[in-house]
Amino acid sequence: MENTDFKEPLPESAQREIERTAELPDEEFVGEVRPVLRGLLKEIRKAEGELVRADEVVYHMLPSPDNPERENPLVVMPSRGCGYEKGSGGCSMCNFGCEGRETTREDADTALDIIFDHNRRWFAEHPEDNGGVVVNINEPGSFLSDRELSPEIRDHIYKRIREYQETEAQGRAVVMVTESRLDQITEEKLIEMREKLGPDVIIDIGVGIESTDLVVEEGIFNKGKPDDWQEKMRMMDRHGVGVTPHLMFGAPFLTEEQAINDAVKSLRDCLEIRNDKGEKFVNTALLMVMNRRPGTLVDYLARNEEHQMPNVMAVAETMERLGEELSPEDFRKIMVFGLVGPKNLVEAGTEYMTCHDESCQCNSVFGILREWRGTPENLKRLKDARASVTDACPNETAFQGPYKRQNGLSPENKRQIKERAASAYYRMSQTILPDKRGMGVEEVIKSFE
Ligand code: SF4
Ligand SMILES: [Zn+2]
Repeated sequence: MENTDFKEPLPESAQREIERTAELPDEEFVGEVRPVLRGLLKEIRKAEGELVRADEVVYHMLPSPDNPERENPLVVMPSRGCGYEKGSGGCSMCNFGCEGRETTREDADTALDIIFDHNRRWFAEHPEDNGGVVVNINEPGSFLSDRELSPEIRDHIYKRIREYQETEAQGRAVVMVTESRLDQITEEKLIEMREKLGPDVIIDIGVGIESTDLVVEEGIFNKGKPDDWQEKMRMMDRHGVGVTPHLMFGAPFLTEEQAINDAVKSLRDCLEIRNDKGEKFVNTALLMVMNRRPGTLVDYLARNEEHQMPNVMAVAETMERLGEELSPEDFRKIMVFGLVGPKNLVEAGTEYMTCHDESCQCNSVFGILREWRGTPENLKRLKDARASVTDACPNETAFQGPYKRQNGLSPENKRQIKERAASAYYRMSQTILPDKRGMGVEEVIKSFE
């Protein structure tokens, strides 16, 4: 998608209207910009066409959190793509709205065979390992959405996992891990899941939170989280289902310092959520490092020099801060993701935050984060590795920290972020939506209502 005007300065009248929008309270700001953001997301996706091919079972290996020697496959089945994207334009950093094809029973069997065969081999070679079996099985969108995965196939998956647990696992813990949007998780689906998997399979569902700041999650990521998202998480806990919130590091329009403050606060907020008995119940939280996928708002902004990939030192600083601010017990719950990815995403042009120069010192920091396990030793190694980096990485923008610590985003931070976002959305509307050309800011907003 070519554009010539995006970087042009705004006329004074538009700039004034943007500044007024940036002064709005968070909820009003989100109410005004979200329809515009959704219109732009749909337009970008239409122009880029289908990018991720979801027509075969793919997997990649993840380090096991409790055994440094071991890896487990994370398997993704083919699908018609994330249903949320169809209606709303989807999330700003994701391109899982792929058409692909219907998931079949054979796909489910292929996916489960990859996982079970891997475990059979592992335990045959390591009879001394009494660790559990992780069945990490996913759709590109939501495992619990009937539009994306038919109830019959879900049933079949539950049945096979239960069978494995009862006949082959020989007393080992079996953990089913998957992902779903919070709006697709209902009491009924949780009850069904538990009944069909039986009482002994441990269940853990990853849910996209991205940020606990409303402007970041809805005004930038277009996450479409239910307002009662914390209550949804409590409901999962009541049904004995583990919940793993995913937080995104490196949103557009945030400075490096703001991204660190937002990530630290969002992770802390999620770990602090308590159930009806007043107990903390989030046992794992993922810090996802932003990558760059074609067909996304993030990619559009990056191409137009309005967004930079996060710096590895900023991710390290986030982890170090969390290491100092959280109890060792809570710190261990945080995992770092998004530094490597599955084959189909790489083939579809996803760029991960990586150093292309093997001799660069930053690789030692990357290496530790890629195999992150959240132990005090891990944290010490990270600090030492960071302290020993003396040369700036040639592949990244120079890290500007260390930064002043702040609890989340200040009102002045928010004003700046709102101004940057509103300005970018307005300039995009002028560039990629011919019918909006020449309209003022308020007119553009009205035209989307
Ligand atoms: S992040 Fe999840 S909900 Fe958002 S578009 Fe991607 S798959 Fe869909
Ligand atoms: Zn480097």
